[in-house]
Amino acid sequence: MIFLKRLELQGFKSFAGKTTLDFTARVAGVVGPNGSGKSNVIDALRWVLGEREAKQLRGDSLENLIFAGTPKRPAVGLAKVTLYFDNAHGQFPFDAPEIALQRRVDRSGTSEFFINDEEVKLRDLISMLARAKLGARGLTMIGQGQSDMFVKSPAEERRIMIEEVLGLKEFRIKKSQAERRLTTSAVNMDKTRAMLEELLPHLRFLRRQKHRWDKRSEVERELNDLENAYYSFQYHKLLHSLRADTGNHPEELEKTKKQKEKEIQELETRIRGIEQKTSAPEKIRAIRTELSELGARRLTLERNLARVEVRMEFESKEKNIPSKNAEELSGVIQTASKDIEHALSLSGVDEIKTVLQKILQSLSGVFQAGAVKEKTEDLDGEKHNIKIELEKINRDITELQKAEDTLAHEQQEANKQFREQIEILESKKNEIRKLDQQIQIQLFEKEKINIRMGELEREWHALGREITELASLPVSTESDPDTGEMERKMLKLRGELASIGEIDQNLVAEASESEKRYEFLSTELEDLEKAISDLKKLIKDLDEKINEDFKSAFKLINEEFNKYFRLMFGGGKARLFVEKKKKPEVEAGEQKEGDEPPKPIVAEEHEPDLTAGVEIELNLPKKKITSLEMLSGGEKSLVSIAALFALIAVSPPPFLVLDEIDAPLDESNARRFADLVKDFSTKSQFIIVTHNRSTMEAADILYGVTMADDGVSKVLSLKFEEAPSA
Ligand code: ATP
Repeated sequence: MIFLKRLELQGFKSFAGKTTLDFTARVAGVVGPNGSGKSNVIDALRWVLGEREAKQLRGDSLENLIFAGTPKRPAVGLAKVTLYFDNAHGQFPFDAPEIALQRRVDRSGTSEFFINDEEVKLRDLISMLARAKLGARGLTMIGQGQSDMFVKSPAEERRIMIEEVLGLKEFRIKKSQAERRLTTSAVNMDKTRAMLEELLPHLRFLRRQKHRWDKRSEVERELNDLENAYYSFQYHKLLHSLRADTGNHPEELEKTKKQKEKEIQELETRIRGIEQKTSAPEKIRAIRTELSELGARRLTLERNLARVEVRMEFESKEKNIPSKNAEELSGVIQTASKDIEHALSLSGVDEIKTVLQKILQSLSGVFQAGAVKEKTEDLDGEKHNIKIELEKINRDITELQKAEDTLAHEQQEANKQFREQIEILESKKNEIRKLDQQIQIQLFEKEKINIRMGELEREWHALGREITELASLPVSTESDPDTGEMERKMLKLRGELASIGEIDQNLVAEASESEKRYEFLSTELEDLEKAISDLKKLIKDLDEKINEDFKSAFKLINEEFNKYFRLMFGGGKARLFVEKKKKPEVEAGEQKEGDEPPKPIVAEEHEPDLTAGVEIELNLPKKKITSLEMLSGGEKSLVSIAALFALIAVSPPPFLVLDEIDAPLDESNARRFADLVKDFSTKSQFIIVTHNRSTMEAADILYGVTMADDGVSKVLSLKFEEAPSA
């Protein structure tokens, strides 16, 4: 199977035009005169396989890789090399039977890689090639004049060359990628940790604050619920009181009052009627006046009658009683005068009569009877008249008294009726007063409720709530809640809110942001810790893998190395060994002439030291070699070639590109080299630039590179069996 199928060059170095090399055989020889462009073919292979250093491509810059032009052919602007691989066995992770790897560079220095026309990054390309045991350098790609490179290279590079051929480069790349990621992750972890440490004190403060505010929200919620319950209860209670059917509505009371007032009016009319209907008082007054006048007349008449009767008695006694001396008479007259004065002061008839009798007795003994017969007759007439008049007056008085009694009775009746109506009137007025009182009480109560409602609404509004909300609050389920307790609790909750303080929305937002940032950084830290731990594990696993594979292959390589060394040198002994880093106290150059070379410290089995280089120990037949520097140029190449074949014997690469590594060999060694190439061509594909006939004979196909006058390289292919016999 041919792994490397074809190489196309265009504008690359001396290959100005499109040139194709079809690798149709396992061993391809590139031949041609000096300076024809053979090594440019190798450079093209290195370049397309990702070589970054211009020096390795025998140039100063990438631009030098583009055909620079000759006097006969103009320069081009783009160099393009495409290498075709067979991918039937899936060496490359592409689902395609053939892989075309292309690299281009233009004069701006822009270099691009493509795999099957898809651009790829150099880093990814190198990883992919490493997995296929391919690379731009190392023992599988030996450039011109580098046939002794294995010997000449430092021990550490030898190790790298061996690892490359063993396919361990892939793991080395992975390891260094992991190490880079580990370094980055460690730096990021430190940064993240520092950011977290910086964030935490402030976050703790924000959390404390937030916790208080969270509590505030709880308290607010509780207060809000309580306020709702309290104000709802109070509101509905007042509403109920306003609408309550107490049976004493002011309107109804007013109606009743009106009715009563109407009744009162009627009563007053009736009373006025009663008052107007009776004239008794005036009549009684008139009768009394008349009675009083009649009384006075009668008194006068009675006095007159008494006087008449006294005179009449005096007249009758004067006739019988002897005369007295003047002294006795004067005494009697004085006493009688006094008694008369006394009688005049009296009003009662009987009293007057008694006094008059006494006077009459005292006078009867003094006055002489009989002298006044004439006078007695006059007096009788006067007495008679008086009596008649008295009788009439008495009759009038009796009649008037009767009339007065009748009128008094009538008055009494009217008064009774009047009093009754007045009582009714008073009771009605009393009822109205009571009604007024009730109306006042009702209105007062209503006003009180309205005032309380107003206060309630003001309180509600002061809480920052809408009045409409108050009416829409659900009715309290508790029929008789302890409002006092509710008020105390509201007061307590408001106190709590005041002590918590107002929520600073900026700080809340900052707390939330900081919390998110903390979460983010914590997760990142965790991820980084996990990534670091994973990377450490990966690095450890890769170290073990590299060490294990290297160690197990190294033993076999050593055996093969000794074998090919002996083949090349016709005897002797050669060995590769892993050199452990020298301890600092062992100074280089302390070695004296003739001393044995310092014994290298071989890595202990249990101590993988992946940086330890590979040393070469040789024993040439018939020679004493103490240093590799003592070897001739050809010998160095032979040792290197022995090492190359030892390596590819243990781990054959898909192909090898060798540019005149047979140049320093003498004829017999060149033949051995050619034989080895032939032998190994079953395992690996060879592309060899050579001037050596033996090597050319080993090739299955020859590509003749020529350069005509125009300074442009051209390729002619010639299958070996078709070549004309020399
Ligand atoms: P030898 O057998 O002596 O090693 P060779 O066949 O390997 O020779 P190369 O080294 O491949 O020769 O080719 C060198 C030639 O390529 C030179 O003639 C050089 O001028 C030409 N060359 C190199 N770079 C460019 C370039 N950028 N443009 C044009 N020609 C170039």
